[in-house]
Amino acid sequence: MESYNETVDLLRRNFLAGKTRPIQFRLSQLEALNKLVEENKAALVQCLKKDLNKPPFEVELSELSMVQSEINLAVNNLSTWMKDEHVSKNLATTLDTAFIRKDPLGVVLVISPWNYPVHLTLIPLVGAIAAGNCVVVKPSEISQNTEKVLADLLPRYLDKDCFTVVCGGVPETTRLLENKFDYIFFTGSPNVGKIIMTAAAKHLTPVTLELGGKNPCYVHDDSDVQNAGRRIAWAKFFNAGQTCLAPDYVLCSEKYRDKLVGAIQTSIHEFYGEDPKQSPDLGRIISEKHFLRVSALLQSGKIVTGGQTDESERYIAPTVLVDVKASDPVMNEEIFGPVLPILTVSSVDEAIDFINQRERPLAAYAFSSSTQIVNQVLDRTSSGGFVANDGFMHTTIISLPFGGIGHSGMGMYHGKFTFDTFSHSRACLLRSDGREKLNEVRYPPYSESRLGFVLYAVGAKQKSSCVLS
Ligand code: NAD
Repeated sequence: MESYNETVDLLRRNFLAGKTRPIQFRLSQLEALNKLVEENKAALVQCLKKDLNKPPFEVELSELSMVQSEINLAVNNLSTWMKDEHVSKNLATTLDTAFIRKDPLGVVLVISPWNYPVHLTLIPLVGAIAAGNCVVVKPSEISQNTEKVLADLLPRYLDKDCFTVVCGGVPETTRLLENKFDYIFFTGSPNVGKIIMTAAAKHLTPVTLELGGKNPCYVHDDSDVQNAGRRIAWAKFFNAGQTCLAPDYVLCSEKYRDKLVGAIQTSIHEFYGEDPKQSPDLGRIISEKHFLRVSALLQSGKIVTGGQTDESERYIAPTVLVDVKASDPVMNEEIFGPVLPILTVSSVDEAIDFINQRERPLAAYAFSSSTQIVNQVLDRTSSGGFVANDGFMHTTIISLPFGGIGHSGMGMYHGKFTFDTFSHSRACLLRSDGREKLNEVRYPPYSESRLGFVLYAVGAKQKSSCVLS
């Protein structure tokens, strides 16, 4: 099997030759990527239909338009992002120039999963190009139709000496990871995240890990039940629940539960009609393996809506479970499918405790008409992101950082954060080779008075006296 040495070497030679550094080069590649999306929308919609039966509306909204927004933002702001950032100085360097240079990292590796295979491959690529890097892209082999289309299109639009696609699954990625990269940007499951981080550690390669987990959704008794039901159903059943940000489970009071189940049932009916299997707006499970895994979770608790499956189509109906115990299988792995367990709690405090007893999620959601309740959940829990009274709408704002914490990942991206992720903040000081008199005070032989002067010249002073008594 290929070792990918030659691929990585070629990219490194071109990086070291400075090919990716000029702003004109970066802009031309970003424009080319935009053109790729613009000119191949039909092919991208088609491959996502084949892989996930993804509705064109969802493709436009969550894959193509998000990539194009990122490209547009980068193109519009690149010259500002790339500028040296001048910083304040101390007395000792007051005549010098001190700044932060946003240096590209070098040859970086982007590994992506199958659930949003265009978005999660191309958005990191946008930031890596903008920051002036050479990139190896490794899309998921599970979304095989999209993998093929990306592998075919990317070399036709981007500079092949600087950007390349490696296809394949575990064996290929394992070999690829034996090479030294300057950064690895991984999106996928926490278990594979550990494998990536271990491989990266051998070369002291820094990583971003965009992982998954179980996103809690607390619904307080004072929430507008119709709106909560509709918004939760949309966020949960979008892409057939195969979204890292999908509400994984709901916590609400016992007396509110039946109302909420009713509202979610009504929403499912409104969204997908009498028989959701016939709806053009509901995706399918990516593979046989995942179909069997998610189907097995239907054994937990009691099905109050949905529950139908069809293996031949990898169809699982939008399903709501109640009477689920925390020890049930559905509560012990990321569901990643159209199955929503609702658990009851007696108070917001109990909900917060429940959330805090588990790994820190990628997102936490709280529904309430009371700011005080929303703030309690926000202030007393920890998660990658937080939304009040909706599902994953925060991800549409590219001025917000996107990333996990703890078990849901490390590092962040989107918008300028992606550019910063793929840049090294290089501390630069440019001094004159003259003015030696000013330096003499720091050289031996040392003395008390010299020390006092040097400390004064390099130290930062507190502006006012300490406020703590
Ligand atoms: P995965 O971890 O199985 O695979 C992700 C990538 O890693 C793929 O390209 C795959 O080929 C590669 N890979 C798999 N096993 C490997 C191994 N042993 N060694 C080296 N490489 C390997 O994830 P998935 O099933 O494709 O995606 C689902 C997971 O991704 C979920 O946990 C989901 O929450 C998470 N996810 C997170 C985000 C986010 O932004 N945080 C977004 C989407 C998905």
